[in-house]
Amino acid sequence: MHRTALVLFSGGQDSTTCLAHALSRYERVETLGFDYGQRHRVEMQARLEVLGQLRAGFPRWSQRLGEDHVLDLAVLGQVSETSLTRDMGFKMAESGLPNTFVPGRNLLFLTLAAALAYRRDLQVIVTGVCETDFSGYPDCRDDTMKAMQLALSLGMDKRFLIETPLMWIDKAQTWQLAHDLGAASQGGAANATDGERLVSLIVEHTHTCYLGDRQHRHPWGYGCGTCPACELRAKGWQHWRG
Ligand code: ZN
Repeated sequence: MHRTALVLFSGGQDSTTCLAHALSRYERVETLGFDYGQRHRVEMQARLEVLGQLRAGFPRWSQRLGEDHVLDLAVLGQVSETSLTRDMGFKMAESGLPNTFVPGRNLLFLTLAAALAYRRDLQVIVTGVCETDFSGYPDCRDDTMKAMQLALSLGMDKRFLIETPLMWIDKAQTWQLAHDLGAASQGGAANATDGERLVSLIVEHTHTCYLGDRQHRHPWGYGCGTCPACELRAKGWQHWRG
């Protein structure tokens, strides 16, 4: 029986939904973020905002929400030229992958997460990777996750479960999942008002935009509205809300 979890938490819509998922299932949940010299400090700030809002607004989850960890991964900027770490525009590279792609980034994230989970005695690693919307990233695929689960469990001689609640759902379903998790957050019968509260928290406080835009407020939250991350988030919202 799994009782404890570590959530890879970036402060975006997906990882916040994953955190809600973990808080609804596990008795003790810790969070992990990576600081790799993002062009925008906005993301690191959003993480703290979201954690604070969850603690304040969802008392049952607050009891389960433990320590937040941030690991410095500035080294990523040394091995990789990408629009996430350098001041360059977003575009598709010759490989067919967007230039936000950092080769092996998720492999590194998961390895460090497992090392931390080992030390903190956390059994499940939860990550918001998804094949449905961003199948271009090879280190987000289901097969990669299964291979990592095996490699990390063998390599650390400890059984880890890598959980990927968003793997097969699209962005509209991710909004719905957040609503469902929020509605059930107090225990007992589902309460739509609590579902709306979690959706509002995600709209207002999570950050997804590649350009770090917190000036323009849309029905689905803040962002430039035109980068691929914004387009995906907006499209999912429109499909969900109709
Ligand atoms: Zn954007």
